[in-house]
Amino acid sequence: SLLPSYDAETIRRLDKAHVFHSWSAQAQIAPLPVTRAEGSFFWDGDGNRFLDFSSQLVNVNIGHQHPAVVAAIQEQAGRLATLAPGFGNDVRAEAARLIAEVAPGDLDKVFFTNGGAEANENAIRMARVHTGRHKVLSAYRSYHGATAGAIALTGDPRRWASEPGISGIVRYWGPYLYRSAFHASTEAEECERALAHLRDLVAVEGPQTIAAIILETVVGTNGILVPPEGYLAGVRALCDEFGIVMIADEVMAGFARCGEWFAVDRWGVVPDLITFAKGVNSGYVPLGGVVISERIAATFADRPFPGGLTYSGHPLACASAVASINVMREEKVVENARRLGDDVIGPALRALADKHPSVGEVRGLGVFWALELVRDRTTREPLVPFNASGADAAPMAAFAAACKAGGVWPFVHFNRTHVVPPCTTSDEDVLAGIAVLDAALDEADKHYTG
Ligand code: PLP
Repeated sequence: SLLPSYDAETIRRLDKAHVFHSWSAQAQIAPLPVTRAEGSFFWDGDGNRFLDFSSQLVNVNIGHQHPAVVAAIQEQAGRLATLAPGFGNDVRAEAARLIAEVAPGDLDKVFFTNGGAEANENAIRMARVHTGRHKVLSAYRSYHGATAGAIALTGDPRRWASEPGISGIVRYWGPYLYRSAFHASTEAEECERALAHLRDLVAVEGPQTIAAIILETVVGTNGILVPPEGYLAGVRALCDEFGIVMIADEVMAGFARCGEWFAVDRWGVVPDLITFAKGVNSGYVPLGGVVISERIAATFADRPFPGGLTYSGHPLACASAVASINVMREEKVVENARRLGDDVIGPALRALADKHPSVGEVRGLGVFWALELVRDRTTREPLVPFNASGADAAPMAAFAAACKAGGVWPFVHFNRTHVVPPCTTSDEDVLAGIAVLDAALDEADKHYTG
C-alpha cells in the first residue's frame, strides 16, 4: 500500500505532535483515532464500535463508505483527478444538472465551492452585486461558517473572537417558541411576532440598504429550530416587497436531512439562493455551493461574477455528488428520512420525554432532532448555561460519556443533544441508539431540581 496503517497509539502520538485541530485548546484534547467506518458505524483503533448519532458533523447523510460513491471517486481519480474551474467537464455538468433538478422553482444554476462557509460568502457576494446594496440581515442562534463573512453572519458565540468582522451585518431574532424572544405562547403568535420584528428591522435599517436576508431553513447546530407554519412564506413576502434577496442556508438541512431534498420544499417556499454542502455528497470529498435563481443568474449574464476558487467544481467532488444523488434517488433516502422522523425517531424521543424530567422539549423532523435538557421544566433553566465550558458543562459531558460508553457517538451542543444519524440508518439501529440515550439521560436527571 502507498498509505500508512498506524496503530491507535501511533495515530495519537503523531496527531498530538503535528495536527492542529478546529475550535480546540490543543493541549486539552485527545482526539479518538478512527480506523474504519461503514454505514452508520465507525470503529476506533482499539476495536470499539460507535453508532454515529452525529453523522460526523451532520454531513454523512447516506452513511459511511457507500460503495457506489467510493467507486465513483475511484473511477474519476483514474479518469481526471483535477481540472481548473474555467473548463467544462462531464461530471461537473452532471452534478450541476442533478442539483438543479432537485432544487425548487427556477433555481437552475450552481456555483460550486469547497464547503458551506464559502457557499455563504459567495451567496452574499451575489446578493450585494445583484441589488447594489450592502447590508445583510442574519439571525441570532445561527451558524453559517468560519471564514470572514460567514463567521460575521453567524449568530452564536463562535463569532465573538472574530469580531468586529465584515461590515453591514445586522442581526435579528428568528422564531423559537420554547425560548421566545417575543414572549409568545403559541406557534402562531411566535410566527406573527417574529415576522413583525423582521419587518420593523427592515424599516429602521432602510430597505434600500439591504441586499439579503439569510436564514437557516431549519436552524441546525443552534437547536434544530423548525420554523412555524407561515414563517418562511412571510420572509419570502417581505423580501419580495422590498427587493431583498432571500438566502436559505441549507448546508445542514438539505439533501434528505429534513425528509426533503431541500428543507424549503416542506413549506413550498422558493428562495432566491440556496447554499448547500455536507449532505450533497456526504462529505466524501469537500463540496459545497450556491444554487442560483434565474433572476440572479441573469445579473451575471453580461457582467462578470467577481468571485472564484481554484477548486470550484472539482472533478472528484462532483463525481461523488453525482453518485450520491443517484444513490439517494435509487434507495429513496429522502423518503426514508421522512418516515424515520415521523414513525420512529419522533415517537421514541417523545417517549423519552415522558420518562425523563430533564427533557424539556423534543423537536425536529426527518433525521434532524433535538432534546433540550433542563433543570426545571417550569422555569426552563437549561441543564448547563448558554455557551458553558469546563466545569459548567460537566453535566452534558457526563451525558456524552455515558452515550459513548454505551457505543453511541452523540452530538452535544450547550444543553442539547441532537439525534442526527445517517438518513440511511435502520429502524433497529436508531431504536438501539435511542435506548442508549435513555440510559444516559439518567445523568441529566441527577441535576433536575424542578
Ligand atoms: N451553514 C450551516 C447551517 C452549517 O451547519 C455549517 C457547518 O456546520 C456551515 C454553514 C459551514 O459549512 P463548512 O463547515 O462546510 O464551511
